Amino acid sequence: MNTVTKHYIDGAFVESHGREVMDIIKPTNGKMIGRVTLGDEEDARCGIAAAKRAFASFGRTTKEERAKSLRRLHEVISARVDDLTAAMVEEYGGVVQFAAPIVQAGANAFLAAEKALQELPLTRNWGRTTVTLEPVGVAGLITPWNANALFLCVKLASAVAAGCTVVMKPSELSSLQTQVWLECLHEANLPKGVCNVVIGRGDVVGAELVRNPDVAKISFTGSAGVGQAIMRDGAATMKRVTLELGGKSPNILLDDADLEKVIPTALVIAFLNSGQACAAGTRLLVPRKRLDAVMRAIADAIAEFPVGDPSDPKTAIGPMVNQKQYERVQSYIHKGIEEGADVLVGGEGHPPGLEAGYFVKPTVFVNVTNDMTIAREEIFGPVLCVIAYENDEDAIRIANDTDFGLHAFVSGTDLRRARCVASRILAGRVAINGMLDDQQAPFGGFKHSGVGREFGTFGIEAFLEPRAILE
Ligand code: NAD
Repeated sequence: MNTVTKHYIDGAFVESHGREVMDIIKPTNGKMIGRVTLGDEEDARCGIAAAKRAFASFGRTTKEERAKSLRRLHEVISARVDDLTAAMVEEYGGVVQFAAPIVQAGANAFLAAEKALQELPLTRNWGRTTVTLEPVGVAGLITPWNANALFLCVKLASAVAAGCTVVMKPSELSSLQTQVWLECLHEANLPKGVCNVVIGRGDVVGAELVRNPDVAKISFTGSAGVGQAIMRDGAATMKRVTLELGGKSPNILLDDADLEKVIPTALVIAFLNSGQACAAGTRLLVPRKRLDAVMRAIADAIAEFPVGDPSDPKTAIGPMVNQKQYERVQSYIHKGIEEGADVLVGGEGHPPGLEAGYFVKPTVFVNVTNDMTIAREEIFGPVLCVIAYENDEDAIRIANDTDFGLHAFVSGTDLRRARCVASRILAGRVAINGMLDDQQAPFGGFKHSGVGREFGTFGIEAFLEPRAILE
Protein backbone atom coordinates (compact mmCIF):
# COMPACT_ATOMS: atom_id res chain seq x y z
CA MET A 1 0.00 0.00 0.00
CA ASN A 2 1.44 3.37 -1.07
CA THR A 3 1.03 6.36 1.19
CA VAL A 4 1.79 9.86 -0.05
CA THR A 5 1.67 12.53 2.65
CA LYS A 6 4.35 15.05 1.73
CA HIS A 7 4.83 18.01 -0.56
CA TYR A 8 8.17 19.35 -1.73
CA ILE A 9 8.80 22.89 -0.54
CA ASP A 10 12.01 24.89 -0.25
CA GLY A 11 14.22 21.94 -1.14
CA ALA A 12 12.70 19.50 1.36
CA PHE A 13 9.85 17.00 1.75
CA VAL A 14 7.31 18.48 4.16
CA GLU A 15 4.20 16.99 5.78
CA SER A 16 0.93 18.23 4.34
CA HIS A 17 -0.93 20.91 6.24
CA GLY A 18 -4.09 19.90 4.39
CA ARG A 19 -5.67 16.80 5.96
CA GLU A 20 -8.06 15.53 3.27
CA VAL A 21 -7.18 11.98 2.25
CA MET A 22 -8.00 10.49 -1.15
CA ASP A 23 -7.84 6.84 -2.19
CA ILE A 24 -5.62 5.88 -5.10
CA ILE A 25 -7.54 3.41 -7.26
CA LYS A 26 -5.96 1.02 -9.75
CA PRO A 27 -7.81 1.43 -13.06
CA THR A 28 -7.32 -2.18 -14.21
CA ASN A 29 -9.41 -3.59 -11.34
CA GLY A 30 -10.94 -0.69 -9.38
CA LYS A 31 -9.09 -1.70 -6.19
CA MET A 32 -7.49 0.72 -3.76
CA ILE A 33 -3.68 0.67 -3.99
CA GLY A 34 -2.82 3.65 -1.83
CA ARG A 35 -3.83 6.89 -0.21
CA VAL A 36 -2.71 10.45 -0.73
CA THR A 37 -3.02 13.37 1.68
CA LEU A 38 -4.06 16.46 -0.24
CA GLY A 39 -2.58 19.88 0.38
CA ASP A 40 -4.62 22.98 1.12
CA GLU A 41 -4.29 26.74 0.51
CA GLU A 42 -1.74 27.02 3.32
CA ASP A 43 0.53 24.43 1.63
CA ALA A 44 0.18 26.35 -1.64
CA ARG A 45 1.07 29.63 0.08
CA CYS A 46 4.20 28.04 1.65
CA GLY A 47 5.28 26.89 -1.81
CA ILE A 48 4.66 30.33 -3.28
CA ALA A 49 6.62 32.04 -0.48
CA ALA A 50 9.58 29.69 -1.04
CA ALA A 51 9.49 30.33 -4.80
CA LYS A 52 9.34 34.08 -4.21
CA ARG A 53 12.41 34.00 -1.96
CA ALA A 54 14.31 31.86 -4.47
CA PHE A 55 13.39 34.10 -7.40
CA ALA A 56 15.47 36.95 -5.96
CA SER A 57 18.65 35.09 -6.93
CA PHE A 58 17.49 32.47 -9.49
CA GLY A 59 15.90 35.20 -11.61
CA ARG A 60 19.36 36.70 -12.04
CA THR A 61 21.24 33.53 -13.02
CA THR A 62 23.13 33.29 -16.30
CA LYS A 63 22.20 31.11 -19.23
CA GLU A 64 25.06 28.77 -18.36
CA GLU A 65 23.90 28.34 -14.76
CA ARG A 66 20.38 27.52 -15.94
CA ALA A 67 21.73 25.17 -18.61
CA LYS A 68 23.58 23.30 -15.88
CA SER A 69 20.35 22.86 -13.89
CA LEU A 70 18.60 21.57 -17.05
CA ARG A 71 21.36 19.02 -17.72
CA ARG A 72 21.16 17.85 -14.12
CA LEU A 73 17.37 17.48 -14.32
CA HIS A 74 17.76 15.43 -17.50
CA GLU A 75 20.25 13.17 -15.73
CA VAL A 76 18.11 12.49 -12.66
CA ILE A 77 14.87 11.86 -14.59
CA SER A 78 16.67 9.65 -17.14
CA ALA A 79 17.98 7.50 -14.30
CA ARG A 80 14.41 6.75 -13.14
CA VAL A 81 12.57 6.32 -16.47
CA ASP A 82 11.69 2.70 -15.59
CA ASP A 83 10.27 3.62 -12.17
CA LEU A 84 8.27 6.51 -13.57
CA THR A 85 6.92 4.29 -16.33
CA ALA A 86 5.94 1.60 -13.81
CA ALA A 87 4.08 4.19 -11.71
CA MET A 88 2.25 5.51 -14.79
CA VAL A 89 1.19 1.98 -15.74
CA GLU A 90 0.07 1.09 -12.20
CA GLU A 91 -1.73 4.27 -11.19
CA TYR A 92 -3.05 5.55 -14.49
CA GLY A 93 -3.28 2.37 -16.58
CA GLY A 94 -1.13 3.88 -19.35
CA VAL A 95 0.02 1.13 -21.71
CA VAL A 96 3.73 0.50 -21.39
CA GLN A 97 4.25 0.89 -25.16
CA PHE A 98 3.09 4.52 -24.74
CA ALA A 99 4.19 5.26 -21.15
CA ALA A 100 7.88 4.36 -21.62
CA PRO A 101 8.55 6.68 -24.59
CA ILE A 102 6.44 9.45 -23.08
CA VAL A 103 8.44 9.40 -19.83
CA GLN A 104 11.66 9.36 -21.86
CA ALA A 105 10.34 12.35 -23.82
CA GLY A 106 9.88 14.08 -20.45
CA ALA A 107 13.53 13.47 -19.56
CA ASN A 108 14.60 14.69 -23.01
CA ALA A 109 12.55 17.88 -22.63
CA PHE A 110 15.28 19.28 -20.35
CA LEU A 111 17.95 18.87 -23.03
CA ALA A 112 15.60 20.29 -25.65
CA ALA A 113 15.02 23.33 -23.43
CA GLU A 114 18.76 23.73 -22.95
CA LYS A 115 19.25 23.75 -26.73
CA ALA A 116 16.44 26.27 -27.18
CA LEU A 117 17.89 28.46 -24.44
CA GLN A 118 21.26 28.53 -26.17
CA GLU A 119 19.55 29.59 -29.41
CA LEU A 120 17.35 32.27 -27.88
CA PRO A 121 18.92 35.74 -27.78
CA LEU A 122 18.04 37.22 -24.38
CA THR A 123 19.47 40.62 -25.27
CA ARG A 124 18.90 42.67 -28.42
CA ASN A 125 20.31 46.10 -29.24
CA TRP A 126 19.62 48.74 -31.82
CA GLY A 127 20.75 52.34 -31.75
CA ARG A 128 20.78 53.29 -28.09
CA THR A 129 18.09 50.85 -27.14
CA THR A 130 18.73 47.58 -25.33
CA VAL A 131 15.97 45.02 -24.92
CA THR A 132 16.44 42.18 -22.44
CA LEU A 133 14.09 39.27 -21.90
CA GLU A 134 13.49 38.94 -18.17
CA PRO A 135 11.94 36.00 -16.28
CA VAL A 136 8.35 36.87 -15.46
CA GLY A 137 8.56 35.81 -11.78
CA VAL A 138 7.01 32.95 -9.83
CA ALA A 139 5.08 30.59 -12.11
CA GLY A 140 2.30 28.17 -11.18
CA LEU A 141 2.44 24.99 -13.28
CA ILE A 142 -0.71 22.84 -13.32
CA THR A 143 -0.82 19.43 -15.04
CA PRO A 144 -3.51 16.85 -15.98
CA TRP A 145 -3.52 13.12 -15.29
CA ASN A 146 -3.08 11.76 -18.81
CA ALA A 147 0.70 12.25 -19.08
CA ASN A 148 1.55 13.89 -15.78
CA ALA A 149 5.27 13.02 -15.76
CA LEU A 150 5.77 14.43 -19.28
CA PHE A 151 3.95 17.68 -18.54
CA LEU A 152 5.81 18.21 -15.24
CA CYS A 153 9.07 17.94 -17.18
CA VAL A 154 8.05 20.09 -20.17
CA LYS A 155 6.73 22.92 -18.02
CA LEU A 156 9.59 22.89 -15.53
CA ALA A 157 12.17 22.79 -18.36
CA SER A 158 10.86 25.98 -19.99
CA ALA A 159 10.40 27.78 -16.67
CA VAL A 160 13.92 26.95 -15.44
CA ALA A 161 15.40 27.90 -18.83
CA ALA A 162 13.71 31.29 -18.49
CA GLY A 163 14.91 31.81 -14.90
CA CYS A 164 11.49 31.51 -13.25
CA THR A 165 10.92 29.76 -9.96
CA VAL A 166 7.82 27.58 -9.72
CA VAL A 167 5.08 25.99 -7.69
CA MET A 168 3.77 22.89 -9.43
CA LYS A 169 0.32 21.41 -8.88
CA PRO A 170 0.28 17.95 -10.47
CA SER A 171 -3.01 16.18 -11.07
CA GLU A 172 -4.33 14.72 -7.82
CA LEU A 173 -4.85 11.46 -9.78
CA SER A 174 -1.10 11.17 -10.40
CA SER A 175 0.42 11.16 -6.92
CA LEU A 176 2.41 7.93 -7.30
CA GLN A 177 4.12 9.23 -10.44
CA THR A 178 4.63 12.56 -8.74
CA GLN A 179 6.25 10.84 -5.76
CA VAL A 180 8.91 9.19 -7.94
CA TRP A 181 9.36 12.42 -9.87
CA LEU A 182 9.92 14.33 -6.59
CA GLU A 183 12.64 11.90 -5.57
CA CYS A 184 14.39 12.76 -8.86
CA LEU A 185 13.88 16.47 -8.25
CA HIS A 186 15.42 16.20 -4.79
CA GLU A 187 18.39 14.35 -6.30
CA ALA A 188 18.87 17.19 -8.81
CA ASN A 189 19.69 19.48 -5.88
CA LEU A 190 18.47 22.69 -7.48
CA PRO A 191 18.83 25.82 -5.35
CA LYS A 192 16.24 25.72 -2.54
CA GLY A 193 12.81 27.03 -3.48
CA VAL A 194 13.36 27.01 -7.26
CA CYS A 195 10.91 24.15 -7.73
CA ASN A 196 8.16 23.52 -5.18
CA VAL A 197 5.46 20.90 -5.63
CA VAL A 198 2.14 20.81 -3.79
CA ILE A 199 -0.17 17.85 -4.35
CA GLY A 200 -3.85 18.73 -4.02
CA ARG A 201 -7.15 19.46 -5.62
CA GLY A 202 -7.45 21.91 -8.48
CA ASP A 203 -10.18 23.93 -6.85
CA VAL A 204 -8.07 24.26 -3.67
CA VAL A 205 -4.32 24.34 -4.44
CA GLY A 206 -4.73 25.26 -8.12
CA ALA A 207 -7.19 28.03 -7.32
CA GLU A 208 -4.78 29.51 -4.74
CA LEU A 209 -2.03 29.65 -7.39
CA VAL A 210 -4.42 31.38 -9.77
CA ARG A 211 -5.55 34.06 -7.31
CA ASN A 212 -2.30 34.66 -5.37
CA PRO A 213 -0.74 38.03 -6.25
CA ASP A 214 2.79 36.65 -5.80
CA VAL A 215 2.30 34.28 -8.77
CA ALA A 216 2.97 36.10 -12.03
CA LYS A 217 2.15 33.36 -14.51
CA ILE A 218 0.11 30.18 -14.82
CA SER A 219 1.02 27.45 -17.28
CA PHE A 220 -1.88 25.03 -17.39
CA THR A 221 -2.61 21.84 -19.28
CA GLY A 222 -6.09 20.43 -18.89
CA SER A 223 -9.70 20.86 -19.85
CA ALA A 224 -11.18 23.89 -21.62
CA GLY A 225 -13.61 24.61 -18.77
CA VAL A 226 -10.86 24.89 -16.17
CA GLY A 227 -8.73 26.86 -18.65
CA GLN A 228 -11.52 29.43 -18.96
CA ALA A 229 -11.83 29.66 -15.16
CA ILE A 230 -8.08 30.24 -14.87
CA MET A 231 -8.17 33.02 -17.45
CA ARG A 232 -11.16 34.64 -15.76
CA ASP A 233 -9.93 34.33 -12.14
CA GLY A 234 -6.32 35.15 -13.07
CA ALA A 235 -7.40 38.46 -14.58
CA ALA A 236 -7.78 39.99 -11.10
CA THR A 237 -4.01 39.77 -10.59
CA MET A 238 -3.19 40.21 -14.29
CA LYS A 239 -1.76 36.71 -14.64
CA ARG A 240 0.14 35.80 -17.76
CA VAL A 241 -1.35 32.49 -18.93
CA THR A 242 -0.38 29.61 -21.16
CA LEU A 243 -3.32 27.27 -21.63
CA GLU A 244 -2.97 23.88 -23.31
CA LEU A 245 -6.51 22.58 -23.63
CA GLY A 246 -8.48 19.98 -25.54
CA GLY A 247 -8.71 18.93 -29.15
CA LYS A 248 -10.84 17.20 -31.78
CA SER A 249 -8.08 16.73 -34.29
CA PRO A 250 -8.90 15.99 -37.93
CA ASN A 251 -6.88 13.40 -39.83
CA ILE A 252 -7.36 14.01 -43.56
CA LEU A 253 -6.70 11.03 -45.82
CA LEU A 254 -6.18 12.47 -49.29
CA ASP A 255 -7.52 10.36 -52.14
CA ASP A 256 -4.02 9.26 -53.23
CA ALA A 257 -3.19 7.86 -49.75
CA ASP A 258 -1.98 4.27 -49.54
CA LEU A 259 -4.62 2.73 -47.26
CA GLU A 260 -2.46 -0.23 -46.24
CA LYS A 261 -0.04 2.22 -44.65
CA VAL A 262 -2.25 5.05 -43.50
CA ILE A 263 -5.12 3.16 -41.86
CA PRO A 264 -2.99 1.41 -39.18
CA THR A 265 -1.30 4.78 -38.54
CA ALA A 266 -4.68 6.52 -38.35
CA LEU A 267 -5.72 4.04 -35.65
CA VAL A 268 -2.48 4.63 -33.73
CA ILE A 269 -3.16 8.37 -33.90
CA ALA A 270 -6.77 7.96 -32.79
CA PHE A 271 -6.07 5.52 -29.95
CA LEU A 272 -2.95 7.27 -28.68
CA ASN A 273 -2.63 6.92 -24.91
CA SER A 274 -5.80 4.76 -24.96
CA GLY A 275 -7.54 7.72 -26.60
CA GLN A 276 -6.85 9.91 -23.57
CA ALA A 277 -4.67 12.29 -25.56
CA CYS A 278 -5.35 15.91 -26.42
CA ALA A 279 -3.60 15.49 -29.79
CA ALA A 280 -5.43 12.27 -30.79
CA GLY A 281 -6.70 12.33 -34.38
CA THR A 282 -10.31 11.50 -33.60
CA ARG A 283 -11.99 12.70 -36.80
CA LEU A 284 -10.86 10.65 -39.78
CA LEU A 285 -11.82 12.51 -42.97
CA VAL A 286 -11.93 10.20 -45.97
CA PRO A 287 -12.85 10.73 -49.64
CA ARG A 288 -16.40 9.48 -50.10
CA LYS A 289 -15.36 7.38 -53.12
CA ARG A 290 -12.89 5.42 -50.94
CA LEU A 291 -15.20 4.98 -47.93
CA ASP A 292 -15.87 1.25 -48.49
CA ALA A 293 -12.17 0.48 -48.88
CA VAL A 294 -11.39 2.52 -45.74
CA MET A 295 -14.01 0.60 -43.74
CA ARG A 296 -12.56 -2.74 -44.87
CA ALA A 297 -9.03 -1.57 -44.00
CA ILE A 298 -10.15 -0.45 -40.50
CA ALA A 299 -11.95 -3.75 -39.86
CA ASP A 300 -8.75 -5.60 -40.86
CA ALA A 301 -6.36 -3.41 -38.86
CA ILE A 302 -8.32 -3.29 -35.59
CA ALA A 303 -6.97 -6.68 -34.49
CA GLU A 304 -3.59 -4.99 -34.06
CA PHE A 305 -5.04 -2.88 -31.21
CA PRO A 306 -5.65 -5.30 -28.35
CA VAL A 307 -7.18 -4.00 -25.12
CA GLY A 308 -5.99 -5.32 -21.77
CA ASP A 309 -3.20 -5.39 -19.22
CA PRO A 310 -1.27 -2.13 -19.71
CA SER A 311 1.97 -3.66 -18.45
CA ASP A 312 1.97 -6.16 -21.36
CA PRO A 313 4.09 -4.62 -24.16
CA LYS A 314 1.66 -6.04 -26.75
CA THR A 315 -1.34 -4.17 -25.31
CA ALA A 316 -2.31 -1.10 -27.35
CA ILE A 317 -5.23 0.15 -25.27
CA GLY A 318 -5.47 0.17 -21.49
CA PRO A 319 -8.28 1.14 -19.14
CA MET A 320 -9.67 4.65 -18.74
CA VAL A 321 -8.19 6.48 -15.77
CA ASN A 322 -11.22 6.13 -13.49
CA GLN A 323 -14.91 5.26 -13.28
CA LYS A 324 -15.92 8.82 -14.17
CA GLN A 325 -13.88 8.75 -17.37
CA TYR A 326 -15.25 5.26 -18.21
CA GLU A 327 -18.78 6.60 -17.87
CA ARG A 328 -17.98 9.70 -19.91
CA VAL A 329 -16.71 7.58 -22.81
CA GLN A 330 -19.73 5.24 -22.56
CA SER A 331 -22.10 8.18 -22.65
CA TYR A 332 -20.53 9.45 -25.88
CA ILE A 333 -20.69 6.02 -27.52
CA HIS A 334 -24.36 5.88 -26.53
CA LYS A 335 -24.92 9.39 -27.89
CA GLY A 336 -23.26 8.49 -31.22
CA ILE A 337 -25.63 5.55 -31.68
CA GLU A 338 -28.60 7.69 -30.65
CA GLU A 339 -27.68 10.40 -33.16
CA GLY A 340 -27.61 7.88 -36.01
CA ALA A 341 -23.93 7.04 -36.53
CA ASP A 342 -23.13 3.37 -37.26
CA VAL A 343 -20.74 1.32 -35.12
CA LEU A 344 -18.18 -0.30 -37.41
CA VAL A 345 -16.21 -1.85 -34.54
CA GLY A 346 -16.57 -1.74 -30.74
CA GLY A 347 -19.64 -0.22 -29.12
CA GLU A 348 -21.02 0.13 -25.63
CA GLY A 349 -19.87 -1.78 -22.52
CA HIS A 350 -16.68 -3.52 -21.42
CA PRO A 351 -14.68 -5.74 -23.76
CA PRO A 352 -15.46 -9.38 -22.85
CA GLY A 353 -13.37 -10.63 -19.91
CA LEU A 354 -12.36 -7.11 -18.82
CA GLU A 355 -15.38 -6.22 -16.71
CA ALA A 356 -13.42 -5.51 -13.50
CA GLY A 357 -11.53 -2.39 -14.62
CA TYR A 358 -12.37 0.76 -16.52
CA PHE A 359 -11.80 -0.80 -19.95
CA VAL A 360 -13.83 0.32 -22.95
CA LYS A 361 -14.06 -1.18 -26.43
CA PRO A 362 -12.05 0.72 -29.03
CA THR A 363 -14.87 2.05 -31.16
CA VAL A 364 -15.02 3.30 -34.72
CA PHE A 365 -18.13 5.10 -35.90
CA VAL A 366 -18.99 5.47 -39.61
CA ASN A 367 -21.70 7.55 -41.27
CA VAL A 368 -20.76 10.37 -38.95
CA THR A 369 -21.56 13.93 -39.90
CA ASN A 370 -19.49 16.77 -38.55
CA ASP A 371 -22.42 18.26 -36.66
CA MET A 372 -22.96 15.19 -34.45
CA THR A 373 -21.95 15.49 -30.79
CA ILE A 374 -19.33 12.74 -31.20
CA ALA A 375 -17.66 14.79 -33.96
CA ARG A 376 -17.75 18.08 -32.06
CA GLU A 377 -16.87 17.30 -28.44
CA GLU A 378 -13.67 15.88 -27.03
CA ILE A 379 -14.44 12.35 -25.84
CA PHE A 380 -10.98 11.51 -24.42
CA GLY A 381 -11.29 7.79 -25.03
CA PRO A 382 -10.58 5.35 -27.90
CA VAL A 383 -13.43 6.49 -30.13
CA LEU A 384 -12.86 7.39 -33.78
CA CYS A 385 -15.35 9.13 -36.08
CA VAL A 386 -15.09 8.47 -39.83
CA ILE A 387 -16.47 11.38 -41.83
CA ALA A 388 -16.77 11.35 -45.63
CA TYR A 389 -15.81 14.36 -47.77
CA GLU A 390 -16.31 15.19 -51.47
CA ASN A 391 -13.05 16.92 -52.48
CA ASP A 392 -10.00 18.66 -50.94
CA GLU A 393 -11.88 21.93 -50.40
CA ASP A 394 -14.62 20.05 -48.55
CA ALA A 395 -12.03 18.21 -46.42
CA ILE A 396 -10.40 21.50 -45.40
CA ARG A 397 -13.80 22.99 -44.59
CA ILE A 398 -14.78 20.05 -42.36
CA ALA A 399 -11.34 19.94 -40.71
CA ASN A 400 -11.64 23.60 -39.73
CA ASP A 401 -15.31 23.37 -38.75
CA THR A 402 -14.58 22.81 -35.06
CA ASP A 403 -14.15 24.87 -31.90
CA PHE A 404 -10.72 23.28 -31.43
CA GLY A 405 -7.40 23.72 -33.22
CA LEU A 406 -4.69 21.82 -31.38
CA HIS A 407 -3.42 19.30 -33.89
CA ALA A 408 -4.20 17.96 -37.35
CA PHE A 409 -2.88 15.23 -39.62
CA VAL A 410 -2.73 14.97 -43.41
CA SER A 411 -1.81 11.78 -45.28
CA GLY A 412 -1.19 11.46 -48.99
CA THR A 413 1.32 10.39 -51.60
CA ASP A 414 1.70 13.72 -53.40
CA LEU A 415 3.67 15.74 -50.84
CA ARG A 416 3.10 19.10 -52.54
CA ARG A 417 -0.63 18.60 -52.35
CA ALA A 418 -0.44 17.40 -48.72
CA ARG A 419 1.59 20.51 -47.78
CA CYS A 420 -0.90 22.74 -49.54
CA VAL A 421 -3.79 21.22 -47.56
CA ALA A 422 -1.75 21.37 -44.30
CA SER A 423 -1.10 25.08 -44.81
CA ARG A 424 -4.84 25.78 -44.69
CA ILE A 425 -5.63 23.94 -41.46
CA LEU A 426 -6.26 26.08 -38.39
CA ALA A 427 -4.26 24.10 -35.84
CA GLY A 428 -1.10 24.62 -33.81
CA ARG A 429 0.55 21.56 -35.32
CA VAL A 430 -0.17 19.74 -38.56
CA ALA A 431 1.70 16.46 -39.11
CA ILE A 432 2.11 15.16 -42.66
CA ASN A 433 2.19 11.38 -43.08
CA GLY A 434 2.41 10.13 -39.52
CA MET A 435 2.42 10.84 -35.82
CA LEU A 436 5.45 13.10 -35.63
CA ASP A 437 7.11 15.05 -32.85
CA ASP A 438 9.77 17.73 -32.68
CA GLN A 439 10.61 19.04 -29.23
CA GLN A 440 11.72 22.39 -30.71
CA ALA A 441 8.44 22.91 -32.59
CA PRO A 442 5.77 24.93 -30.79
CA PHE A 443 2.91 22.94 -29.27
CA GLY A 444 -0.43 24.55 -28.48
CA GLY A 445 -3.72 25.44 -30.00
CA PHE A 446 -5.77 27.78 -32.10
CA LYS A 447 -9.29 28.69 -30.92
CA HIS A 448 -10.60 26.81 -27.86
CA SER A 449 -7.52 24.57 -27.77
CA GLY A 450 -5.69 27.19 -25.80
CA VAL A 451 -3.56 30.26 -25.52
CA GLY A 452 0.18 30.39 -26.12
CA ARG A 453 2.70 27.69 -26.94
CA GLU A 454 5.04 25.27 -25.19
CA PHE A 455 8.31 23.66 -26.38
CA GLY A 456 11.42 25.19 -27.89
CA THR A 457 12.13 28.91 -27.85
CA PHE A 458 8.35 29.58 -27.99
CA GLY A 459 7.93 27.73 -24.68
CA ILE A 460 10.72 29.68 -22.98
CA GLU A 461 9.49 33.04 -24.30
CA ALA A 462 6.16 32.33 -22.59
CA PHE A 463 8.00 32.75 -19.24
CA LEU A 464 9.79 35.97 -20.25
CA GLU A 465 8.93 39.67 -20.31
CA PRO A 466 10.80 42.11 -22.57
CA ARG A 467 12.32 45.14 -20.88
CA ALA A 468 13.63 47.97 -23.06
CA ILE A 469 16.27 50.38 -21.74
CA LEU A 470 16.55 53.56 -23.80
CA GLU A 471 19.49 55.92 -23.37
P1 NAD B 1 -8.77 19.15 -15.67
O1 NAD B 1 -8.94 20.47 -16.33
O2 NAD B 1 -9.89 18.58 -14.90
O3 NAD B 1 -7.55 19.23 -14.63
C1 NAD B 1 -6.26 19.62 -15.02
C2 NAD B 1 -5.52 20.15 -13.81
O4 NAD B 1 -6.16 21.35 -13.37
C3 NAD B 1 -5.53 19.20 -12.62
O5 NAD B 1 -4.28 19.29 -11.95
C4 NAD B 1 -6.64 19.78 -11.75
O6 NAD B 1 -6.49 19.47 -10.39
C5 NAD B 1 -6.45 21.27 -12.00
N1 NAD B 1 -7.65 22.09 -11.72
C6 NAD B 1 -8.94 21.71 -11.70
N2 NAD B 1 -9.73 22.76 -11.35
C7 NAD B 1 -8.91 23.82 -11.17
C8 NAD B 1 -9.13 25.19 -10.82
N3 NAD B 1 -10.34 25.67 -10.58
N4 NAD B 1 -8.06 26.01 -10.74
C9 NAD B 1 -6.81 25.55 -11.00
N5 NAD B 1 -6.54 24.27 -11.32
C10 NAD B 1 -7.58 23.42 -11.40
O7 NAD B 1 -8.25 18.18 -16.80
P2 NAD B 1 -7.95 16.62 -16.67
O8 NAD B 1 -9.26 15.93 -16.60
O9 NAD B 1 -6.94 16.38 -15.59
O10 NAD B 1 -7.23 16.32 -18.08
C11 NAD B 1 -7.94 16.09 -19.24
C12 NAD B 1 -8.02 17.32 -20.09
O11 NAD B 1 -6.72 17.84 -20.33
C13 NAD B 1 -8.61 17.06 -21.46
O12 NAD B 1 -9.56 18.05 -21.80
C14 NAD B 1 -7.41 17.16 -22.40
O13 NAD B 1 -7.68 17.53 -23.69
C15 NAD B 1 -6.57 18.17 -21.70
N6 NAD B 1 -5.17 18.02 -22.12
C16 NAD B 1 -4.62 18.97 -22.94
C17 NAD B 1 -3.31 18.83 -23.38
C18 NAD B 1 -2.65 19.85 -24.27
O14 NAD B 1 -1.43 19.89 -24.31
N7 NAD B 1 -3.38 20.66 -24.99
C19 NAD B 1 -2.58 17.73 -22.98
C20 NAD B 1 -3.16 16.79 -22.16
C21 NAD B 1 -4.47 16.94 -21.72
